[in-house]
This record gives sequence, structure tokens and C-alpha cells, in this order.
Amino acid sequence: MPLYVYEARDGHKSCPFCQGGFEVTQRLSEDRLEKCPKCGNPVFRVIQAPGLTHSQTDLHYRAKRAGFHTLKKVDHGTFEKLY
Ligand SMILES: [Zn+2]
Repeated sequence: MPLYVYEARDGHKSCPFCQGGFEVTQRLSEDRLEKCPKCGNPVFRVIQAPGLTHSQTDLHYRAKRAGFHTLKKVDHGTFEKLY
């Protein structure tokens, strides 16, 4: 499943979770997130440049280094923190 990166639209109103961006694994068929699952403030999906393919491990490493949270969507509206 593809991993998407989201960031808060308004960094001043957002919570620490979405402020620096976070990653969510979603099925292609799933709608993109409109709101932060923690604080409910609007988020946007960061478009990742095509051709820049990284293995999951690289992605997780980079995400961790950048302070991102990697989440797995376990149920509708429920997230499990993996890292
Ligand atoms: Zn938030």
C-alpha cells in the first residue's frame, strides 16, 4: 500500500503531531485525509515527486529522521503508531 505524507495547512493552529508532517499508509481506493486524526485541523497531502522511489525502509528511516510519525491505518479513523 502506498505511503502518503500529510502536513498541516495552518502550522499555528495544528497540534505537534501534524505540524511537522506525518505519514499514513492508505489504499489507493481510500479518500485522502482532509483533517489531522489527532486535532482535526485541515491537512493537505504532500505530492511526492515521481521517479523518486525509495524502499519502505528508506522511507521509514527518512521519516524518522525528519521527526515524522509513521502510522498504519488499522480501522476507519483509527491509527496505530508504528514508530
Ligand atoms: Zn494535528
